[in-house]
Amino acid sequence: MFNPKVSFLAIAGVMATLFLTVASAFAQQDTVPMPAPDPQIAAALKEISAAQIQKNIEQLVSFDTRQTLSSDIPPLGGKGVSAAAEWIQGEFQKYSSQCGDCLEVRTDQFLQPPASRIPQATTITNVYAVLRGTDPANAGRMYVVTGHYDSRNSDPNDISNAAPGANDDASGTAVSLECARVLSKHRFPATIIFLTVAGEEQGLYGSAHFAKMSKAVGWELEAVLNNDIVGGDNTPGDSQRNPHIVRVFSEGVASTATPDELQRIRALGGESDGPSRQLARYVAEVATEYLSAADFHAMLVFRHDRYLRGGDHSSFNEQGFAAVRLTEYRENYNHQHQNVRTENGIEYGDLPKFVDYAYTANVARLNAATLGSLASAPAPPADVRLLTKQLQNDSTLEWKVSPGGLATGYEVLWRDTTAPDWQHGKNVGNVTKVTVPVSKDNVVFGVRAVDAKGHRSLAIVPQPER
Ligand SMILES: [Zn+2]
Repeated sequence: MFNPKVSFLAIAGVMATLFLTVASAFAQQDTVPMPAPDPQIAAALKEISAAQIQKNIEQLVSFDTRQTLSSDIPPLGGKGVSAAAEWIQGEFQKYSSQCGDCLEVRTDQFLQPPASRIPQATTITNVYAVLRGTDPANAGRMYVVTGHYDSRNSDPNDISNAAPGANDDASGTAVSLECARVLSKHRFPATIIFLTVAGEEQGLYGSAHFAKMSKAVGWELEAVLNNDIVGGDNTPGDSQRNPHIVRVFSEGVASTATPDELQRIRALGGESDGPSRQLARYVAEVATEYLSAADFHAMLVFRHDRYLRGGDHSSFNEQGFAAVRLTEYRENYNHQHQNVRTENGIEYGDLPKFVDYAYTANVARLNAATLGSLASAPAPPADVRLLTKQLQNDSTLEWKVSPGGLATGYEVLWRDTTAPDWQHGKNVGNVTKVTVPVSKDNVVFGVRAVDAKGHRSLAIVPQPER
């Protein structure tokens, strides 16, 4: 005979058991899932060569100056910024010819009208190569690595004297080139752009043009890695340098946040969760995954850039793209923006002999691993929301499926509001809604898409939905 009371108790018992199962599955001991390295990416990293990077930096220095205002010097003479641009283009084309024309080698050239540090109209040329994604449903997602190939000496507008710029920023240019060389031997579902820009030292003109152009044509730049001063200055006698660390600078609040968004960020404590900050966390996680064995690590700096300095990531941030800056652990200002000279026994100038090529190679590996991971991963879940309609101690998260069809599941991440990085995570399966026994009042949540091989998307912090 049907007994509603017994049935209710039975159902309540099952429910309690289920809840306990879920609750224990979301125990605070749950650490962020860490997949095994992808063999294809690991193989690409092995190909990165300190000797090749040295060759490229020395070649860039051989143009004597790469000052942006030297663009009228004919490239045939092998001097000046235009000769450097032609050489970079030739390198990209060489890599492309070695991969069955897999790279689209392009320039983004424009006439910059007179402006600060641009005394007369000046041609600026960005040179880049596109490794188009193999999956039409994902090729629209683009990941960018960039460095600036222009240089300067003590006088920002001097085109006569040498401006070797070995560290600032032939090193970052060499990172873009080396990533192109090794990653073009592989294929990824999403698109990777290897970019080198000019005009940085005059005021970020090249990157500003490229970022605005990207936005105007609707390119989905999901992440931009700007490498500027990644030579790991190895001045003899400097006991405070650290060849095991690269700094990753990121803005916590998006430059483009609207007044409404800023209001919500203030109310709910989202100051360290803008898209660029999530990208920085991703870079640090990739470093742990692929480079901890090499004792190389990312040190996250929770600020947009160093004091008194700027960089090309800002140009992308200002157009609404997630972008971070990678820079060596400790800079030597005698070897940046200096005329080459010796004074009182001190050598000034940004010369190749102060570059630690093994260090730059590790920075290149971190970039290549990040690009490869992102371009292999599913798109992030869309429209991630935290339901806040009722006062309750559990938290319900809801999202739309990761577009592009690569996701096989989702991970919910969380951390204390005072913690810098994700502390906990759980694969919740291929669902678009989950209730977890963790109070939204006490933590910051993120959701990311994963595939069967463990590639994961950037994390998206949910927006509250009332
Ligand atoms: Zn620079």
